[in-house]
Amino acid sequence: MSRLKHFIDESANVYCPVRGRDVDVELCLACNRLEEFDLDSREPYLVCRAPELGERRSAIVAADGASV
Ligand code: SF4
Repeated sequence: MSRLKHFIDESANVYCPVRGRDVDVELCLACNRLEEFDLDSREPYLVCRAPELGERRSAIVAADGASV
């Protein structure tokens, strides 16, 4: 299983590799792919479980319980 680190910008947005766009970090805090995060560091970031090769984006998003 691969893990991806993403930095959170000043607007509390982060790039989501599943949805292919920026999302509000609030969505990440409820996401079952989230592995680790640090919102208090100088460069806030999160680490999430990357989609596996061959995993379909629509299936991933549906499993995460969120809309694309
Ligand atoms: S934690 Fe979930 S919503 Fe946030 S970037 Fe990762 S996969 Fe996307």
